[in-house]
Formats: sequence, structure tokens, C-alpha cells
Amino acid sequence: MIIQLKSEITQVQKDKLVDQINSIGYKITEVNTQIGTYLIGIGKAEFDIRRFGHFEGIMDIHIVSDDYKLVSKKWKVKPTAIDLGDGVYIKDGDMAIMAGPCSIESEEQIRNVIDHLKVAGIKIMRGGVFKPRSSPYAFRGLGLDGLKLWHQLAMEAGIKIVTEVMQVSQIEEMYDYVDIYQVGARNTQNFNLLDELGRVDKAVMIKRGISGTIEELLQSAEYVFSGGNEKLILCERGIRTYERASRNTLDLNAVPILKAKSHLPVVVDPSHGIGIREFVPQMALAGVMAGADGIIYEAHEVPEKAYSDGQQTLNFAQSELLADQIRQTFALRKSFSLL
Ligand code: PEP
Ligand code: MN
Repeated sequence: MIIQLKSEITQVQKDKLVDQINSIGYKITEVNTQIGTYLIGIGKAEFDIRRFGHFEGIMDIHIVSDDYKLVSKKWKVKPTAIDLGDGVYIKDGDMAIMAGPCSIESEEQIRNVIDHLKVAGIKIMRGGVFKPRSSPYAFRGLGLDGLKLWHQLAMEAGIKIVTEVMQVSQIEEMYDYVDIYQVGARNTQNFNLLDELGRVDKAVMIKRGISGTIEELLQSAEYVFSGGNEKLILCERGIRTYERASRNTLDLNAVPILKAKSHLPVVVDPSHGIGIREFVPQMALAGVMAGADGIIYEAHEVPEKAYSDGQQTLNFAQSELLADQIRQTFALRKSFSLL
């Protein structure tokens, strides 16, 4: 159960309400976000809305039986729009394109990618400065100094930044230099990290866990929301299955299911999803048709020389073509009333 409170509710009114809810055996958690105040009630007894409607200070009451609540569409039908400023959005009814290298490597590389994004009309650049690598001997990223340089160049070009945060201590130091914090697939259930990202007033994109279910992804988003941050984006990036012919199994089923269950925007990452460069465009376009609100993919001037994930990275010509095809496919999808 979710009770949305009016901003002008007094402490006395709130205490009365909480006492009454506790009296039916419900456990209450108060959530304060950038946008609103909510009481989340968890309990076994049937919740009779009529017993609560007359309390002062309530805006609305919603029965949400799922384990995730605040990210559920059951109480908030209106889709959440992520406003990155300067007219850049990630939202339902729109198609956000995010592209860039797996890893930020050098000033020259950043400049090359930014030039490419401008030509391709792409407004959000991806890239990792803290890289989660399966081997400790692989390139682990340029770190905070790399991020500061990247931010300077991106800002000058009017480009937004999405980059992975790997641990709690990085959140604050990264804050001034990112537009979207990315939570990587290996950290989807790092609940301390999610809790702390809940305290930040900046967008967070949560990737689906390596072997994570759709429900678990929504629960991870619930952590951030209930910590106080409503600016959330969900990302399907493929899951580990028994299939070895592709790096991961891009679960496009997740897109319409997530869109139906949640009010949050959904993005598809075909690069990590299939892991094979020549098939990235097909899966990107399939993601668009599945109902995604955005596509995030890897691009590099010379993918063969990329420090990481070169095998799934597009060159700039391929990326420019794909960005155009994503827009065309989105226009086609919009013309189908079903989607
Ligand atoms: C990445 O975006 O480069 C990355 C490491 O992604 P994931 O967490 O999905 O593996
Ligand atoms: Mn990568």
C-alpha cells in the first residue's frame, strides 16, 4: 500500500495516520523524494481504504500488492520522464540514443567520439572511467581525472554523460561530472550502493543483473526510489543463459513487461546484449520495436584498438548509420497504434 501525502501535512496529522495504520498490523516506511512524500505500508491484513480516506493530509491511497511498489505502474500511471536539461530527455514517447566507447581512454579519443556524436545528432555519451573487468589485469579505467576531463569536453559540446559508478565512495566525487550514474550488471544488487544513490538528486540508470530476473531489477530500482531518488531508468543488457553463441542473451521480452509493470523509462543495450559487433544493429532496432525508450551502444573510432569490448563496438560509420536507423524504426513504431 502507498499513501501519497500532501506536502503541507503536519507532524500531528502524520502521527495520527501512522498510529492508525500500525494498529491494523502494518509496518510503515516513510519515503521522502525530490518530488513527494509517501508512506509505504507492508502488512498481511486486508487494507480497507475507506478507513483511511478521511484522514487529513492524504493526497491519495493506492493498493499495490507487488513487492516493488513505488516503481510500479499500479499507483503511477503517468510515465516518469528523465529531464537531463538543455532539452535532453529520456522518456516514454521519445527515443534517447546514447553512444560511446566501453572505456574512456584518452583526451584524443574523447574528442573523436564527441565529434562523431555531434555529426550523428546524439546527445548522450556513454563511457566507463571505473571499469568492472573480469580480470584484474585488464584495463580498469582512467578514474576520476579521466571523468573530469571528459566532463569538461562534453560540456563544451553540449553532450550529456552516462558513466558507471562502482562503489559508494565514488558517488560524491563523481557528482559534479555526471548526468546519469550507471549501475552496472555486476552491481545491480549492491544494496548499499543503491541506498546511497537514493540520496542523490541525479538520474540513475540501473542495468539488469547478470543473472537477474525482471522482478529483481524492479526491486533494485525500488531501493533507489525508496532512498529518495525518483530519477530512474531501467536497462535491459542481456542475461546469462546456457547459450554460448552470443555473449549474453538479450531478453527483449523484458522491455514490454517492464513498460507494463513500471512507470520508469526502459533502455536497451544491444552491445553487451549480444556481444558481437555485426549483430548489434539488428538487436538495437529490435529493441526499438519492442518498445524501448532509448538505446545505449558502444562506439569507437577504431573498435579493434579499443581497450575493452572492441568485439561488440561499432565504428563511427556504423554508429552514424545505426543512429539514423534507430530514429527511422522509432518513427515506424510510433505509426503502429498498438505500440
Ligand atoms: C558497460 O556498460 O561497459 C558495462 C560494463 O556494462 P554491464 O554492467 O552491462 O556489463
Ligand atoms: Mn562494455
